[in-house]
Amino acid sequence: MRELLEKMVEESREFTQGGQLASYIPELLKYNKDDLGIYLIRNDGKEFYAGNFDKRFTIQSVCKPLILLLALIDNGEDYVTQRVGVESTGKAFNAIMDFSQVEDLKDHINPMVNIGAIAMCSMIEGKDKDEKFQRLLDLTKKLSGNENIGVNMQVFESERKTGDRNRALAYLLKSYGTITDDVDDVLDVYFKACSIEITCKDLANIGFVLSNNGRSKSSDEEIVSKKYTRFVNAILMTCGMYDGAGDFAIRVGIPAKSGVGGGILSVAPSIMGIGIYGPALDSKGNSIAGIKLLEKLSNSLYLSVF
Ligand code: GLN
Repeated sequence: MRELLEKMVEESREFTQGGQLASYIPELLKYNKDDLGIYLIRNDGKEFYAGNFDKRFTIQSVCKPLILLLALIDNGEDYVTQRVGVESTGKAFNAIMDFSQVEDLKDHINPMVNIGAIAMCSMIEGKDKDEKFQRLLDLTKKLSGNENIGVNMQVFESERKTGDRNRALAYLLKSYGTITDDVDDVLDVYFKACSIEITCKDLANIGFVLSNNGRSKSSDEEIVSKKYTRFVNAILMTCGMYDGAGDFAIRVGIPAKSGVGGGILSVAPSIMGIGIYGPALDSKGNSIAGIKLLEKLSNSLYLSVF
């Protein structure tokens, strides 16, 4: 397996050349465009890795399923789905729409795109922004089994400085009454969430829990309820790769979430959790070589659910 993974990584690495680092968050330009790594954890507990699997990078949009999980845990499914929709938007992750003709705003905001994730940040319980974020970080630590996870403050500052588009989305949400908290506080939670620093192994562990009905590999403890992992996996399948979700479903066929830091969290239900890192992105903001690598892996191990 180790050799197979190494071979797939090396075959996929050339595709990094066709991608770009995320330049709109200046701090992310420091990443090495050629990097590509994978870590997987199988349901028998065996772990395999290859390439640049030990690099640290920021989670970016891969925080969205975690925010969704916490919003579900804190408020229940009914509350969440009354405020954010579950249909794929088919638009870029940071799209700003004219909602003036829209009948129900929630049908146009999905938890896997920025506007929906920002809305969900305000649903996390906590007396202030720090407690809300701390609870999200605690959940991330628990799901990944890694107590040492923290925030990359340079990336956080970089996001905050250049995050006017997200600020626009948050004000839009406030104007529609979807959020009632202070906009800067909500964005602070969101920007910090995106700046959580992780490795492929952390993503593989999170993917493992999602593939294993909410149970971790080490203690078999139920970290999140099965009904919520099912909910999140379904949303990942339909919207996790934004406006590339359909193509990804055909080529790879498993629930996954990408981030502009180059990470892809993937879930092969009942089989394995997979973490990918490859910061060269395609035009939709997904890891270009990471998708190639997942396609090869899925084909060779028959991971597609279709
Ligand atoms: N922090 C990024 C943003 O809000 C996350 C986007 C992404 O990873 N696709 O723009």
